[in-house]
Amino acid sequence: MPVREEDLKFIKGTIKFEEPISGHTTFKIGGPAEIFVYPSDEEDLLRVLEYAYGHKMGVFVIGGGSKLLVGDKGIRGFVISFSAPSFGKLNIEGDTVVAGCGLKVNELLKKTSSEGLGGLEFLSGIPGTLGGALVMNAGWPNRAIGDCVEEVTLIRGLEKMVLGRSGLTFSYRSSNLEGSVLLSAKLKLEKKPVDRVEAEIKSNLEKKRKTQDLGHPGIGSIFLNPSGKVPAWRVIESCGFRGKSVGGAAVSEKHANFIINRGGATAVDVRALIDEIQKKVFKEHQIVLKLEAKLTGDF
Ligand SMILES: Cc1cc2nc3c(=O)[nH]c(=O)nc-3n(C[C@H](O)[C@H](O)[C@H](O)COP(=O)(O)OP(=O)(O)OC[C@H]3O[C@@H](n4cnc5c(N)ncnc54)[C@H](O)[C@@H]3O)c2cc1C
Repeated sequence: MPVREEDLKFIKGTIKFEEPISGHTTFKIGGPAEIFVYPSDEEDLLRVLEYAYGHKMGVFVIGGGSKLLVGDKGIRGFVISFSAPSFGKLNIEGDTVVAGCGLKVNELLKKTSSEGLGGLEFLSGIPGTLGGALVMNAGWPNRAIGDCVEEVTLIRGLEKMVLGRSGLTFSYRSSNLEGSVLLSAKLKLEKKPVDRVEAEIKSNLEKKRKTQDLGHPGIGSIFLNPSGKVPAWRVIESCGFRGKSVGGAAVSEKHANFIINRGGATAVDVRALIDEIQKKVFKEHQIVLKLEAKLTGDF
């Protein structure tokens, strides 16, 4: 039996039924979420999780949606957003920062830099939230957020716990945090003059603007760079994919590892383009391109 509004009266935050996820992803792609919830605080979140698990319903946590390709048929079960202010708090003590996982990365960067704290400049121009950055171990070009993390507070099942460095694993665009619900993280930064931090942020942003396609809806790099080999964009380009399109989805002219939504792209279009690229790259270079993008929902 479908869940009705009155069944969820215990939730304090906002609930939307059949909410189009395309409005919550930077790709502007994705069908409806059966139940899209903005819990108002941690207690509310726990109630949602308890209900979902108790009713054997799916739970998917969405951050800024900047790494997601969501299927056109959407996501069944609960999609949980951390947009409520209680998940975006920031507390700075000396060179240590405790931030909520709903905090936007650009806000984190703005606030820490204005306090004369450096160490996160490489995050400049990376969209999304702290939660998404931790799960993805976001970074550029050779530093990543995992380098600064001291501990993460999260929920596994219905149990709240704190993982210190020894319980955390970060590797290239990956962590052992996927599947948990992340609440906050403690980051160790470094004292630095404000003007130096701001200059580095600006310079990184300029470099990114020159090389990456930031002007179209997309999710950044689609594929991981194959280890020890040439970067993904180079092998994709060498197979003649630059500018190639399927429906509304196209390989960016500016960065061959970016697929962009030129307007009206569906998840099926993007999947078809991904498949074509993977097949041709394997045929011509014997390289298996693995996805950096997170695919979720029903296609
Ligand atoms: C123009 C552009 C440029 C980009 N450049 C870079 C770059 O240089 N380097 C880079 O690393 N990435 C880059 N990205 C990709 C993306 O911005 C990062 O991967 C980002 O960290 C994803 O964060 P998000 O909040 O949007 O996560 P989402 O896309 O919403 O989710 C990603 C994953 O994290 C999970 N998640 C999110 N929040 C939580 C939480 N609180 N608890 C549990 N799980 C959670 C989701 O379930 C999902 O599995 C770029 C993207 C774009 C669009």
